[in-house]
Amino acid sequence: MNKSLRDSGIEEIGAINWGTHIGGLFESEEDLYKVALPYIKAGLNNNELCLWVYSQNSSYEDIKNVIVNSVMDVDSYIEKGQLILISNKEWYLKDNTFYEIRVNTLWNKYINKAIEQGFDGLRVVADTSCVDKKYYRSFANYEEKASDFINQSTFIALCIYDAKKADPLQIAEVIKNHNFVIMRNEDKLQVVKSVELMIKNKQLNDVLEYDKLKTEFFSNISHEFKTPLNVILSIIQTLELKNNKKCDAKDLKYLKVMKQNCLRLVRLVNNVIDITKIDANYFNLRKQNCNIVSLVEDISLSIIDYAKNKGISLVFDTDVEEKIIACDPEQIERIVLNLLSNAIKFTRKGGHILVSLSDLNDKIQISVKDDGIGIPKDKQKSIFNRFEQVDKSLTREYEGSGIGLSIVKALVEKHNGTITLNSELGKGSEFIIELPCEVLEEKEAEARGSKDLFINDYTENVNIEFSDIYV
Ligand code: ADP
Repeated sequence: MNKSLRDSGIEEIGAINWGTHIGGLFESEEDLYKVALPYIKAGLNNNELCLWVYSQNSSYEDIKNVIVNSVMDVDSYIEKGQLILISNKEWYLKDNTFYEIRVNTLWNKYINKAIEQGFDGLRVVADTSCVDKKYYRSFANYEEKASDFINQSTFIALCIYDAKKADPLQIAEVIKNHNFVIMRNEDKLQVVKSVELMIKNKQLNDVLEYDKLKTEFFSNISHEFKTPLNVILSIIQTLELKNNKKCDAKDLKYLKVMKQNCLRLVRLVNNVIDITKIDANYFNLRKQNCNIVSLVEDISLSIIDYAKNKGISLVFDTDVEEKIIACDPEQIERIVLNLLSNAIKFTRKGGHILVSLSDLNDKIQISVKDDGIGIPKDKQKSIFNRFEQVDKSLTREYEGSGIGLSIVKALVEKHNGTITLNSELGKGSEFIIELPCEVLEEKEAEARGSKDLFINDYTENVNIEFSDIYV
């Protein structure tokens, strides 16, 4: 095949090879003619057989009159058989259906005809706008195959698409199946090279591939971190049981410190993995319809003794007995335990903590209030940021990673809720959460297993969430 360059006649594209498949996504006839007329003119000047498959909205006379504006001796080209005008309905359709087999036969026929009649090859304007959207899929498949076939022939095609009808997917298909696509970008016509799209497609594939890797990474990494920690924890527990009698007080203390630090690592690993998942948009709530009142009450009551041991009184209060909302009970537990562990951590002996619920009809308010050390005004916003602590000094009094509140905030926001803080230094802090009172449809709730009983054993999670507090 002669690979010599041919003038496309399209300013934005310039010289092209035989076998070039161009797409034109136009909103107006004006744009269409702006591109198609010089393109056809160049073909006629270059000794090519030119075929214009015109739109169902134009007549033979219309299209001829349009071409006259650019090519003066249209009739003579038509007479000598170098310019052929044919309606797209005749070309593409049979019984109003896209008729692929005939179309392929026709392209072949005209490519051969061009050579037989002494032309260099075939140049086509093919207006596809008569192809109904419901045949779009098969048309796109056809275009993909056509592109291969055009690439190997003495054939140049400009396929016209109605940009007003095309949806983004169709536009993407059009771009993918052509070497160039010319379309309007604001005030000028612009060319998109399919190569650019191939790169974008590659990037898309890379993204999908990365997504798959991410899923594997998250499930592996939690396992990899937690397995050794669990091994250490169970050994510590075995030692505690076995050696209780033989151990002196010092040994028991060492075991306790080891255990607590293991739990702190578990908490840190959980938090870091979850915050990474949230950042990667990979964290999904498992919402169920739950009674938020009893959920928060059970969690609070489960740490009353813990607080008592620290000399802190914990009271639970509610103005509503039952409020069913769609939430992820595991994450609600985490939110409340996090706030409670902070309240205990930053409240001195003799202090008070109040957990209360208020029904605001379309919202439920959960407040965790303490009369502890309080948070200075200038830190009240930033403590919700990751790794932010009021006291960052190495000699600080309280342990922690500064990650808890950022997780709490992210989890509350995942529930479409809000978290606010009222605090005064030296007087205490109150964290207020508001969650929307939405419920899942019966069917949806069943699919998510809301009928499963939520296991109300918080001991292990309390141990983990409270691991920063040394009793
Ligand atoms: P961590 O407690 O692990 O350091 P958090 O993100 O849970 O991290 O809390 C961040 C910081 O906010 C804490 O280090 C502390 O300075 C401050 N803070 C949180 N809750 C309270 C509270 N109830 N009273 C006083 N300070 C608090």
